[in-house]
Amino acid sequence: MKESARAVVIGGGVVGASVLYHLAKIGWTDVLLIEKSELTSGSTWHAAGGMHTFNGEANISRLQKYTIDLYREIERLSGQSCGLHPNGGLMLAANPGELDSLRLICSRARYLGMETEMISLEQALEYNPLIDPSHFIGALWRADGGHCDPSGTTNAYAKAARQLGASIERFTRVQSLAQRRDGSWDVVTDKGTVHAGHVVNCAGLWAREVGYMAGIELPVLAMEHHYLITEDLPELKGRSREIVNTTDYAGEIYVRQERGGALIGTYEPHGIVWSPVKTPDDFSMQLLPEDFERLAPYFEVGFRHFPALGRVGIRKAVNGPFTFAPDGNPLVGPVRGLPNYWGACAVMAGFSQGGGIGLVLSRWMAQNDPGQDILSMDVARFGAFATPKYTSIKVPENYSRRFRLAYPNEELPAARPVRRSPIYDRLRAAGACMGANYGLESALWFAPPGTEPVETPTYRRSEAFPIVRAECQAVRTAVGLYETTNYGKYEIAGRGARGWLDRVFSSRIPRPGRLGLAPMLNAAARIVGDLTIACLAEDRFLIFGSGFAEEFHLRWFWQSDPPPDVFVRSLASTLNGVSIAGPRSRELLQRLTRIDLSPGAFRLFDVRETAVGFAPSILSRAGFTGELGYEIWTTPDYFATLYDDLMDAGRDLGLTLFGGRALSSLRLEKGYGSFQKDFRPDYTAAEAGLERFVDFNKAEFTGRAAALAERAAGPKRRFVIMEVAALDAEVSGYESILKDGAAVGYVTSGAFGHWIGKSLAAGYLPTPLARDGARFEIDILGEMRAATVRLEPLYDSQGLKLRS
Ligand SMILES: Cc1cc2nc3c(=O)[nH]c(=O)nc-3n(C[C@H](O)[C@H](O)[C@H](O)COP(=O)(O)OP(=O)(O)OC[C@H]3O[C@@H](n4cnc5c(N)ncnc54)[C@H](O)[C@@H]3O)c2cc1C
Repeated sequence: MKESARAVVIGGGVVGASVLYHLAKIGWTDVLLIEKSELTSGSTWHAAGGMHTFNGEANISRLQKYTIDLYREIERLSGQSCGLHPNGGLMLAANPGELDSLRLICSRARYLGMETEMISLEQALEYNPLIDPSHFIGALWRADGGHCDPSGTTNAYAKAARQLGASIERFTRVQSLAQRRDGSWDVVTDKGTVHAGHVVNCAGLWAREVGYMAGIELPVLAMEHHYLITEDLPELKGRSREIVNTTDYAGEIYVRQERGGALIGTYEPHGIVWSPVKTPDDFSMQLLPEDFERLAPYFEVGFRHFPALGRVGIRKAVNGPFTFAPDGNPLVGPVRGLPNYWGACAVMAGFSQGGGIGLVLSRWMAQNDPGQDILSMDVARFGAFATPKYTSIKVPENYSRRFRLAYPNEELPAARPVRRSPIYDRLRAAGACMGANYGLESALWFAPPGTEPVETPTYRRSEAFPIVRAECQAVRTAVGLYETTNYGKYEIAGRGARGWLDRVFSSRIPRPGRLGLAPMLNAAARIVGDLTIACLAEDRFLIFGSGFAEEFHLRWFWQSDPPPDVFVRSLASTLNGVSIAGPRSRELLQRLTRIDLSPGAFRLFDVRETAVGFAPSILSRAGFTGELGYEIWTTPDYFATLYDDLMDAGRDLGLTLFGGRALSSLRLEKGYGSFQKDFRPDYTAAEAGLERFVDFNKAEFTGRAAALAERAAGPKRRFVIMEVAALDAEVSGYESILKDGAAVGYVTSGAFGHWIGKSLAAGYLPTPLARDGARFEIDILGEMRAATVRLEPLYDSQGLKLRS
């Protein structure tokens, strides 16, 4: 075995083999994969090998397409067949909600360049004659996908990697990891120690244990999963082509052809966790006992929906474990505090995602950038809130919903409430319908007295629509209160703080008493953060951003090497906040503070430490609604009192609570983008319209060279707001924007603008097309709706309210 390697990949399942291949392909040929048994011996060997491009996240869909397209390449390179059956896929809808969901997938697929269309049930029967159409109302056909041979595919990666110079050691167990002072690793195995520049955790079913070797607890858990293979089916005899892989959402069943018979699998509602505490060391190439009694009711649904399957015997049953993260997406990327330790685990769809994971991870390792936005599979989307208990509840929930379609207004119930702010009970008592963001409960909207805060999951306007309208109107005409505790909050302090911030952020760093909008860019000038910096003193700063990105931003700060005289910490649990917004917000706040709030005395973006009622607070004049507004931050011990003081003081001013839904509507009327939705590492500051906050006079900041180059050339696309002639549904994200039938851009977020009375979509268009008044079409749930670009904010375009 080699004594050293630039990187050691731990685990030879489909993911480890792909990572090895991609590292070698990008030029890291001095790489070694260590596998404790035979390749594929974890969850890979017994997989059903299904592959598809469907994912709620456009970027993951793209990576899935990349994975599927890659198989021909590795077959060619390695001479090893992947056993491809590129039959395409069918998705069946049994109710109007599912049908809406399929239509949305179609609308999204156009811009992604995927061949996808809604088809009739008669056409669906041509692709798969086993369907009993009486159970369904619609179908979607995808050209991409099919299934492959798990072992052949893994070996094709491995052989192709070897040809590029990579090494593989089988039957070698990694026993422990020790980090040297220089950040490199000693990988201790039962056959000796390898000195590695980097280690990658691709240990699949043992990812948790390989996490422990580096002292981390990854939110990953294995579930049992069953599929059956039937005897040969007479219905398939003589057919010239195989039946298409078919997903039956209502039945929570997937079906595909396996030789002359069919393979049928189910994601049952009460799944079984496998090895909840420790994965056995000696588990290898094994299956688990079948549990037909438990699963019979679910397979019976399958036999009703695909009756021919019930008429033949079962040739083989497979029950095997595979791993999931709490939200079902993989855990990929570097881990904060652990230099040169990388995750590529919790991959539940290895044959759809393995290639894409290898691609982005190899870029990340070799070029310090994954090359595209992968927030939704970044290991940093989970923070401290994802404890083992949380994972043990969320993973089974996710498994049970694997084939349920997620509605955009749907909040999942498991492991809730976990993180609660001190005013949680007060907000609930006031009718809050809660959502969870990064584990923290936050209000989405408030049910009026006498009504319940419950909402029907739907793609269309729900019963909350008029309620959100009333909240928006209260903010625009009087004053509203929104809890901002769910924002990300950080303190940066110390003598070197300003100098370090100057390098990390592209914007001018504000002077004491001021606040500044602060895009944070990567070396390619793409947006890794859209934050606000408040300078409380020359050596003390607070930073506010998206709550869900806390770990992502903390990792970015850590990777940006704060010097010893700079102290960085999260204030997630030590600072609570509210925003009050609306024309009467000044009057309300003035009742609780001695500082002079008149427009000349406390200007937009001023920040001050002061008392608000009883609460020692940090007060700023800022907000996200486009109204005169303030943000007030205090510690948890004062927070409920601050809230009570504000509610008391605002009663006669029409103070109304508002939630996240109203905020989305208000911010889009004003043309404000939001991180993760509209501003992501896929877009540059110039494309996003954030260039005006970039200070090119600074000699140095991350992304400066790329931002300057883009300024010279001009951005290729532009962030725009569009008015949409919607009927009863807003856009929900990633729908294609069409010009003369061709997809030219796509939607990043949307909401109904309740004050201006128009449905709004935010998205990106090629710069030449992003003209005021330019007209496009967006397919919303199967209906082509006109969309018109509005370059000026639709509300208060001069910013007079904001500055009033
Ligand atoms: C019944 C079933 C059906 C499935 N069907 C599909 C499907 O149709 N399509 C699809 O895409 N996915 C499917 N999957 C999921 C798929 O199997 C996984 O996504 C995939 O196998 C994950 O691969 P991996 O490389 O991450 O993990 P694994 O395959 O578990 O590989 C991890 C490897 O790491 C090795 N290892 C662990 N610890 C050490 C150590 N300390 N030292 C050295 N080596 C170590 C293990 O021996 C193992 O070989 C299915 C899974 C099951 C159970």
